[in-house]
Amino acid sequence: MSDEKLPSQSENFSEWYNQIVLRAELADYAPVRGCMVVRPYGWALWENIQEALDRRFKATGHVNAAFPLLIPMSFLQKEKEHVEGFSPELAVVTHGGGVELEEPLVVRPTSETIIGDMYSKWIKSYRDLPILINQWGNVVRWEMRTRLFLRTLEFYWQEGHTAHATKQEAEEETLRMLDTYYDFAVNEAAVPVIPGRKSPQEKFAGAVNSYTIEGMMRDTRALQSGTSHFLGQNFAKAFEIRFLDQGNELQYAWTTSWGLSTRFVGAIIMTHGDDQGLILPPRLAPTQIVIVPIFRDDAEKSMVMPVVEQVQRELGVSFRVKVDDRENLTPGFKFNDWEMRGVPLRIEIGPKDVQKGSAALARRDRPGKAGKVFVAMEQLTAHVTEALSDIQTALYDRAVAYRDANIHEPEGYEALKEVVKNGWAFTWWCGSAQCEAKVKEDTKATTRCIPLDQPGGSGACVVCGSRSTEKVYWARAY
Ligand SMILES: [Zn+2]
Repeated sequence: MSDEKLPSQSENFSEWYNQIVLRAELADYAPVRGCMVVRPYGWALWENIQEALDRRFKATGHVNAAFPLLIPMSFLQKEKEHVEGFSPELAVVTHGGGVELEEPLVVRPTSETIIGDMYSKWIKSYRDLPILINQWGNVVRWEMRTRLFLRTLEFYWQEGHTAHATKQEAEEETLRMLDTYYDFAVNEAAVPVIPGRKSPQEKFAGAVNSYTIEGMMRDTRALQSGTSHFLGQNFAKAFEIRFLDQGNELQYAWTTSWGLSTRFVGAIIMTHGDDQGLILPPRLAPTQIVIVPIFRDDAEKSMVMPVVEQVQRELGVSFRVKVDDRENLTPGFKFNDWEMRGVPLRIEIGPKDVQKGSAALARRDRPGKAGKVFVAMEQLTAHVTEALSDIQTALYDRAVAYRDANIHEPEGYEALKEVVKNGWAFTWWCGSAQCEAKVKEDTKATTRCIPLDQPGGSGACVVCGSRSTEKVYWARAY
């Protein structure tokens, strides 16, 4: 841990973010520009995210598989919008085994094309449908401006790819997976995202409709945190994914795709962190409880350590517990270190606690004395269970309050321009690309999503004043 003070969120949010990622040892810069090395603490967090999502995918009938990293260039060219959208970001392999390849290979930016090609072989009849496959893997997009976790050349994610017999089934699947992401974000990560539809300009290249969960970070900027796409028959037609229906007629399948990536680690950092560092939601934290033994000499140590080990064994049955028994570091240093790393709950056990049969609990989300209580040792498990549950709820409530305080409903265009400097605007929008482009040009804010939850009725477009039936969120985004 560096001794230099962490920059505060208010003085330099961007630098605060970078320093947290590095100092908490979540990730580091790789030798290749724009790539990241995910360190063990960051990967442990990602593994917990994976576990929470994978459980939900399987509960909704999906299975995992693995498709290749390399894709023939010709595959990408089969879907027009898809190739146009991804061409500027492609990494292309031209040589293999010392010779130039006949056909260049693309390092996958996403896998609709190669999976579409395989589905065309596997799907023959309506009996083969639906096909519900997810893959955990990595992809490469040659980004120009990169940030650890938020935008890197290579990132880790899951991508679900499904094929269905009917349009309705595919649309239902798209929304089901959006809802799955919403449930994960809210109930596991305590990140209060808003689910909605992307504008045609912001949608996935090749999709008919894209849906997103959008979160507000603590600098009020939006982060697209997961997406689910209804692909219609676009990829089915490009890749000949056809099946014989019950009437023995040849039909194109309807497909979807959906993904959530290591970017979500960035969402957790920027939704919950404070000036002392990271704050991790208990349900996803790699370490939920850190025990710091306190002693001054060997006599005190021999009194304290057996109790610490006993507590570790007991709590270890239900929780992810770590004992910080590092020598030559003061308790104060250790407290700061674990606060910076965002461990939700700290237990302090010293000689006086052992004598009294008690322990001190300190909550990460409530710094200082406000978050510290002394509890009887025999009730420790009950107190810890309750505290972790309270922290999870408190983080969510705090994030909701922050978000709602920074969403405004400006009256008119001038007010909109002010609002998006430091917050989100929620307004009527006529749906035209022109109005959207004007806002982007004037303010750098983009449409984040047309929320599924609409007020109904109609109103005047905030830009052009024409009658509009849907409201949209505008914000500057990562
Ligand atoms: Zn308009």
